[in-house]
Amino acid sequence: MERILYVGKTKVIYEGADDKTVTIGYKDTTTAFNGEKKQELIGKGKLNAAISNFIYKYLTENGIETHLIEEVDTSSITAKRAEIIQVEVIVRNVAAGCFSAKYGVPEGTELRNSTVEFCIKSDTLGDPMVNASQITAIGLATADELNEMSQMAVKINELLCELFTNVGIRLIDFKLEFGRYDGRIILCDEISPDSCRLWEIGTDRKLDKDRFRRDLGNVLGAYKEVLRRLENVK
Ligand code: 5GP
Repeated sequence: MERILYVGKTKVIYEGADDKTVTIGYKDTTTAFNGEKKQELIGKGKLNAAISNFIYKYLTENGIETHLIEEVDTSSITAKRAEIIQVEVIVRNVAAGCFSAKYGVPEGTELRNSTVEFCIKSDTLGDPMVNASQITAIGLATADELNEMSQMAVKINELLCELFTNVGIRLIDFKLEFGRYDGRIILCDEISPDSCRLWEIGTDRKLDKDRFRRDLGNVLGAYKEVLRRLENVK
């Protein structure tokens, strides 16, 4: 087995065949509230790998460069070895989660425009929200990089809204991570029910990690349902 470069909460990063690539393995571990709540959900790694790979291929076909090179097996991929920018980009279409709690907007309220927010990627700090001038002041990213990330996030939101609407799912919000690779900004990490809020159109049934966060049960059933719908997309 290759040398381990990094063990994250839900993924393990291994050295790749050369210094431009890594192998990323998806774990079954599910965490919430900054790792305070944790459980092994057998099969979750494979489901997230399949969902994220499906979405990243779709984004690639539509002009978004991602880190995905190829699938190694059902729970791991070869990816471009990017330098991860330590800023999480959160896009919201509908009020939920932290946005509802912080701004007093009831969950499920359709937002008049989508929002893009930044957080520092830091478990120690609890991923605090941060603005563009603070990010450039600290040196986490340049203004040009932030512009590029914001533009890519808006385009990704449009593409994902179209994809999910086609399969009867409402994209409430999601989190993205980007990296620097060969002088370009590329989409890294994953897009899966772990990093998105997905509600069934018509019933508002939650098909995402809120089932785990809020003890709603049948977490894996919901993730399977997302994959089933995506794989049947026309
Ligand atoms: P909120 O800020 O409301 O907690 O989360 C907004 C969206 O971003 C949700 O879809 C949530 O799953 C995702 N998100 C925010 N922070 C993280 C994180 O640290 N890890 C993951 N996987 N998703 C996150």
